[in-house]
Amino acid sequence: MTVAVVLFTSDLRLHDHPPLHAALKAADEVVPLFVRDPAVHAVGFDVPNRAAFLADCLSDLDSSLRRRGGRLVVRTGPVAREVREVTAACGATEVHMAAGVTGFAHRREERLRGELDADGVALRVHDRVITAVAPGAVTPQGSDHFAVFTPYMRRWSKEQLRDPLPAPRAVRVPEEVRGEELPSRAGVADVSADLPAGGESAGRDRFARWAETGLSRYEERHDDLAGDATSRLSPYLHFGALSPVEVVRRARAKGGAGAEAFVRQLCWRDFHHQVLAARPEASVRDYRSRGDRWRGEEDAAEEIAAWREGRTGYPVVDAGMRQLRHEGWMHNRARLLVASFLTKTLYVDWRIGARHFLRFLVDGDLVNNQLNWQWVAGTGTETRPHRVLNPVLQGKRHDPDGAYVRRWVPELAEVDGAAVHEPWRLPEGERARLRYPAPLLDLGEGLARFRQARGRD
Ligand code: FAD
Repeated sequence: MTVAVVLFTSDLRLHDHPPLHAALKAADEVVPLFVRDPAVHAVGFDVPNRAAFLADCLSDLDSSLRRRGGRLVVRTGPVAREVREVTAACGATEVHMAAGVTGFAHRREERLRGELDADGVALRVHDRVITAVAPGAVTPQGSDHFAVFTPYMRRWSKEQLRDPLPAPRAVRVPEEVRGEELPSRAGVADVSADLPAGGESAGRDRFARWAETGLSRYEERHDDLAGDATSRLSPYLHFGALSPVEVVRRARAKGGAGAEAFVRQLCWRDFHHQVLAARPEASVRDYRSRGDRWRGEEDAAEEIAAWREGRTGYPVVDAGMRQLRHEGWMHNRARLLVASFLTKTLYVDWRIGARHFLRFLVDGDLVNNQLNWQWVAGTGTETRPHRVLNPVLQGKRHDPDGAYVRRWVPELAEVDGAAVHEPWRLPEGERARLRYPAPLLDLGEGLARFRQARGRD
């Protein structure tokens, strides 16, 4: 009887899962294993919204495995130690897992490889599990990664994607392997009120529904803040409850401008993965330094607090920041403009904003969060690094009727139409009744400070 272990990480699904597929091919019995590693907790990544969503994902994975005769084995402890204990307990000769991208994932992989080698157990690492195209699979001449999106996309689009693998029909798990009780969402405190349900089943349902109802109009509607017409698949992709290969393939099969625009966003996801895989330090350091001397907590404590709490006095910024807390998610257009407001209008270090996002975002990950923050701050891959988004103009353009602001900022619920974006222009008596703060600063002053800092005045 041969046994293999599948170590699940950011790939919590049964459909289109190359490590599981390979393990089932290679061995008679397979241990589907998830390790709750204290090291993840130590780096502050284990925040309530993601812990709750993760609990949903694990419980869904366990149910799906049980329907196939198996179960998920969950253990807590340093990952290498737990994997070795499991391989020793069942005499497994192979461990399969998805290739990671971050420095953390690389170190985990190296450590595992070293320790398993010593036990005579082979570690097999599979790519194209977490991304559609593997980081480093396409490169420009003379470099290990693409630093600009458009040429990357041209190459990425030509890559042949594999046929998605079916979910296994049966999984036999050796009886002697012990796990612990699964974590439950109910056991996590301080979760955002409207956090979506996690898990592969919920993700597949959402994708199927959205592909029928939202995809074809994605191109014209994706920036409509109130319309909320994006897929909201990011947390499922982040936890690997959905396979990016399968999502790209199925969207392409639908065809049309909506599908093309949607696939482009998935390409951004892969683009950022290949940047961070090549430059892991970009999760904390400027990818391209602009010589900024950012303001930090000690220089701008009040302004940072107002931004975090959604009381800057700029309605669309405050709406985005409140959506983040309430749902653990924020519309992409809102992410862009609240990030521009923090880094360029307030001239505050992008890392402070990125940290706050990671505390609440259910889809929060080092790859997409840090590199999008750097993109907005102009220290990343953006080709117009000094561009500043004006929150009033952005609000009027992407929330023309003001419905998004009224949804999230109840103090302004009585203000009709686009006037909600400039409450300071309302008649004085009306304004005084609103109990909404005056703008934190004059946009012109913020712009002048930023331009001076970048040597562009
Ligand atoms: P859709 O518009 O339906 O797009 C489909 C998928 O494409 C998304 O689910 C996502 O996986 C991917 N995608 C879309 N836009 C981007 C992008 N700009 N970069 C990378 N992938 C993208 N996304 C995260 O997944 N995690 C993060 O931590 C994260 N932090 C961000 C921080 C900032 C400051 C900004 C500006 C963007 C950030 N994004 C992040 C990207 C983007 O905002 C979200 O992926 C998107 O809003 C998720 O909603 P959706 O699933 O409805 O997206």
